[in-house]
Amino acid sequence: MDSNSLGVIIALLPLLAVGLLFLLLSSKAKPHPIYDSSRNPIAGNQGQVINSRYHPVVISRDQHDVTRKQISDNALKVLYRLKDAGYESYLVGGCVRDLELGLHPKDFDVATEAHPEEVHDLFRNSRLIGRRFKLVHVRFGREIIEVATFRASHDAAHNDDDKHGRQADGGMILRDNVYGTVEEDALRRDFTINALYYTINDFSIHDYAGGWQDLEQRTLRMIGDPEARYREDPVRMLRAIRFAAKLEFTIAPDTEEPIQRLAPLLSDIPAARLFEEVLKLFLSGQGETTFAMLRHFKLFEALFPATQRLLDKEQGAVAEQLIIQALRSTDIRIKRGKSVTPAFVYAAMLWYPLLEILERLKKQGVPPIPALHQAALEIHQLQSRASSIPRRFSGTMRDIWELQYRLPRRNGNRAEQLVENPRFRAAYDFLLMREASGEDLDGLGQWWTDYQQARSEQREEMVAELGHGGARQRSKSKRRVRRKPQHD
Ligand code: ATP
Ligand code: MG
Repeated sequence: MDSNSLGVIIALLPLLAVGLLFLLLSSKAKPHPIYDSSRNPIAGNQGQVINSRYHPVVISRDQHDVTRKQISDNALKVLYRLKDAGYESYLVGGCVRDLELGLHPKDFDVATEAHPEEVHDLFRNSRLIGRRFKLVHVRFGREIIEVATFRASHDAAHNDDDKHGRQADGGMILRDNVYGTVEEDALRRDFTINALYYTINDFSIHDYAGGWQDLEQRTLRMIGDPEARYREDPVRMLRAIRFAAKLEFTIAPDTEEPIQRLAPLLSDIPAARLFEEVLKLFLSGQGETTFAMLRHFKLFEALFPATQRLLDKEQGAVAEQLIIQALRSTDIRIKRGKSVTPAFVYAAMLWYPLLEILERLKKQGVPPIPALHQAALEIHQLQSRASSIPRRFSGTMRDIWELQYRLPRRNGNRAEQLVENPRFRAAYDFLLMREASGEDLDGLGQWWTDYQQARSEQREEMVAELGHGGARQRSKSKRRVRRKPQHD
């Protein structure tokens, strides 16, 4: 290098230094794309920014209630294997939250810096899944440990290309495979209490978003700007209701405020994803509360539009009662550890919309059973546009409905055959609920209760006493061939 160019470089040095200083200062002044402390009241409690990296609040092992004994052995195996391979990994999400609250986690999720393919290489018993979110499922018999790679938010400048992440004009996330650091991963999660990270390095919990304080204060709070986060993924509105109902937490005012306004955004969500959410909403043991909250926040309409239209009408009160009865009995069954089926809940949700269609078909002169089948089909098509019902459940739902028309016909050996029907119990429960919600069925429910408790001679007497009341025999030519019962 000659002395001339050396001189030019020396002359430029102060300029370079000023530029560098400016860059440093401006990067510190800029709020985090998601976690903008000026908008969020939990700022004081949140991890600190040191050297432009977020450092978590660390809750040491003696300050929290999550013990290794409560953690699934398989989840621990995954964590130790990842650690031995040199990857930073944590237990995260619902399991940390639930364990701290003294609840049984549904499943154990792991977040790691290892990329999906690297995780897959570490575990023979694993599978790569997902498109929207690429994940690894590590299978141990019936238990699956879900391992996700740390993800960054979409506006994380260094990584925002269309190949990995994609956002629609309205802000909705279409694809989400932008990898990032653990702090970025924390801030792209939905609620602060879902962003607590448990590490087996020293058994502490790392909190990047103020979740620890919210857990203590039983508050459900969206990370970042709630409206933007709901627009990114409207399903978060349903999740807010689900967690508030399940944990009996209060929704923070700024997290609650946009929900009613943004509820219509749910119509952009694919029906299959909404079905998954419906299952979690109504089959987790707090269905009754959840239903009331969904209605309050105007979210129910997106899930069951035909039912909502009916609830708005004069006769809506009976329909509402039936739904409440069905959800209440489902909640009780779950608490007692009994099995539940979404078909039953769907049958109740759609029973009155079904009757409305049936009424129309009756006026058109369609005979009862074909009318029932046609109405069931119409309802299924209508409902599938909102939250679809997989075939294995819609079959059961139709059986429950059809049996409502067969339960009044008890003469001959029909009553005996009905009791043997694999769907009898569900149909009988459904019948009782219809009565409890205000339908007058002329004591039919009580009759079936007595019938089941009676010995065989008494049963014959009961049927004989019905005379023609329970007969209304259809002519042979119109009798339908009985369908084979379906087994789910
Ligand atoms: P549970 O399993 O008890 O229903 P969970 O919190 O574990 O609750 P999951 O659906 O299993 O919920 O998701 C695991 C974690 O992934 C959540 O805790 C949250 O951190 C994150 N997460 C899930 N869905 C979203 C979403 N739509 N937006 C942002 N983060 C999400
Ligand atoms: Mg979970």
